[in-house]
Amino acid sequence: MKSSKIDNMLIHEYVINDPLHQLFDAVNAISVQGYDEERRVIYWNEGSELLYGYSQDEAAGQKLEDLIIPKPMRDRVISAHRDWIKNGTEIPATEITLRHKNGDDVSVFSSHVMFTNQYNTKQMYCIDVDLTAVRQAQAQAIFKEHMLETIFEAIPDSFLLMEIDGTIIDYHTNNKNNLDVTPEQFIGKNMQDILPDEVANKFKTHIAKVIKQEGMISFEYDLTLPQGLVYFEARVSYLSKYNQVVTIIRDITEQYKSAELIRHQAYFDSLTSLPNRFLALDRLSQMLIEAERNNEKTSVFFLDIDDFKKINDSLGHEIGDKLLIDAANRLQQVLRKEDTLGRLGGDEFIVLLRGVADHNNTLAIAEDLLKTFRNPFKIDGRELILTISIGVAIYPENGRCASDLLRNADTAMYQAKASGRNTYSFFTKEMNVIMQRRFEIEEQMHGALERNEFELHYQPKLDVKNEKVIGSEALLRWHNPALGNVTPNEFIPIAEHTGLIVPIGKFVIKQALRFLNEWQNIDQQKYTMAVNLSPRQFRDAGLLIFIKNTLSEANVSPENLELEITEGVLMCGQSFIHDALIEINGLGIKLAMDDFGTGYSSLSYLRQYPFDVLKIDRSFINGITLNKADCDLVKATIAMSHSLGLTVVAEGVETKEQLSLLADLGCDFVQGYFLSKPLPAKQLLDFSAQLYPI
Ligand code: C2E
Ligand code: CA
Ligand code: CA
Repeated sequence: MKSSKIDNMLIHEYVINDPLHQLFDAVNAISVQGYDEERRVIYWNEGSELLYGYSQDEAAGQKLEDLIIPKPMRDRVISAHRDWIKNGTEIPATEITLRHKNGDDVSVFSSHVMFTNQYNTKQMYCIDVDLTAVRQAQAQAIFKEHMLETIFEAIPDSFLLMEIDGTIIDYHTNNKNNLDVTPEQFIGKNMQDILPDEVANKFKTHIAKVIKQEGMISFEYDLTLPQGLVYFEARVSYLSKYNQVVTIIRDITEQYKSAELIRHQAYFDSLTSLPNRFLALDRLSQMLIEAERNNEKTSVFFLDIDDFKKINDSLGHEIGDKLLIDAANRLQQVLRKEDTLGRLGGDEFIVLLRGVADHNNTLAIAEDLLKTFRNPFKIDGRELILTISIGVAIYPENGRCASDLLRNADTAMYQAKASGRNTYSFFTKEMNVIMQRRFEIEEQMHGALERNEFELHYQPKLDVKNEKVIGSEALLRWHNPALGNVTPNEFIPIAEHTGLIVPIGKFVIKQALRFLNEWQNIDQQKYTMAVNLSPRQFRDAGLLIFIKNTLSEANVSPENLELEITEGVLMCGQSFIHDALIEINGLGIKLAMDDFGTGYSSLSYLRQYPFDVLKIDRSFINGITLNKADCDLVKATIAMSHSLGLTVVAEGVETKEQLSLLADLGCDFVQGYFLSKPLPAKQLLDFSAQLYPI
């Protein structure tokens, strides 16, 4: 025992249970205090010293209420103690906050006993267990709970705590939208009871998996809820210590939808929602694998709307877009579910027919597709007639892979266009040869200008009345080392298609005007130089400025230049072409309508645009001395042209008879082999010198 003072006191007056004191002395984890009837300390163990800060010496003889009872409680404690002594009313054990020597609160669980000693006085023992640690732990637990609640509120995820058999122990969510029942109704239930089988099984499999392996497993599932289909991501981890599973569930609908949208954009055409080129060709590849396995045929259609560009340019893109959507719908209706309709871009579509029995089968579908366009399209109160051209390639005879089949269907489509459109054409080997040639020409044409492979020839034009040369037409020649001489009829359409006609056309204008200047200087007289212009050249915004500059560079006056255009230029009906023609006319440059008689509506164009010259197509001149019909037609054309104030040129005059007949009919100028073939510049100068010897 530490304090002799207490020892003395205890020994002489109060000791009632020495073994008990020994026990209290031995445990310092609890505080034991003894008080006499006046509440003076008669016992104070080490535990009390530790808990309340008073040493045994300090405490001995002090009153309970002066030591550890906070002021507000003093009166109550005193009266309760008196009551106990007097009336035997026990002070119940309780949690209570007492006071440390230094004034701090001390939380204790306090139990009390009352003894009567041998001197017949009462002694109260208080046994106080320190609750500070417990309180702290409790506070911590409460804090954690609050924090979790705040977290559960703040974040969109839901939390599930489950037994490994899927029984839900705890559930938190702030997103009540995604619940049919309240979270409380979940608890105690098995997932199997609240989720659709398919989803519950998914959980089951992943729980089984996560128990076997460390870490976290995530998976996705979807549920049909009142607000629609909702996509979730679940992350599962296993708490091995408790043999429980924690699942965090997140609503990923938004994410899923945007991913879906991106996926859709990558594979589908945004205008028509049809599979795009990429997806269509992918499907074709899949179909071919199947076709090979099943020993079946597959047909590939390449569809192109006829003159769609014209519609788009004249009626606007909005109507063009609506037409494409309607056209796609019509095409789709002809096809079976297992077939694919895709949009390759622009006005080009692809159709894939799976497992076709024979050619007749394919042919019938091609005809159905053409037929579905017979009725006019009604758009914004307009009725529009559309036709399509279809090229067909069949697996395996026309190609074994997707790209070969597509290319060959495309080739066949070209053929359908060439056969007058609104028709279909099956791919043949001969087409391949044509396409091959096209390809080579296209390839060789790149860089041909830079390699100086182009040259101009000039075909003289004669005045029928006085038989004098009045000018010439510049005609392009191409000699390529690999291909030899390529005719303009072959390479000009390709140059137009690739756009190379723009730089090539500029070369022609420059070269022709330079030569014209030289020719005029040598012969000391004025000639006209006719230059052919392609439709594509009008789309070059710099065309007019280029012509103007070239005229002044070459020192040629505008009225000596004659631009020949065909109906093709006018047919697209675009306002900028109209404007360009007016401007050309305004500059004083002559305009000639080329190949007159080969189109349908040339007459109306003649009135609409400021033409100066009309060139009657060779095909009519050919027949004038042979049949009356051609002769009458040419006669009427000349009369009409003159009435409109146009000069008439007859092309392709090959015989003396043709020339004299044309003279009789009043034709102004002639051009043709009878007079001369198109000649290189040097030879034309010689030809001209013979006629006009200086
Ligand atoms: P085109 O404008 O109708 O040119 C007349 C064509 O008829 C030329 O063919 C010419 O050589 C040919 N020809 C002339 N007289 C006779 C004849 O008496 N009998 C026969 N059978 N043919 C005759 P070429 O030079 O082969 O040109 C073909 C077409 O290529 C031209 O037809 C023209 O549309 C185009 N072309 C030629 N050069 C150019 C050019 O520089 N630019 C553009 N855009 N097109 C050109
Ligand atoms: Ca011409
Ligand atoms: Ca012509």
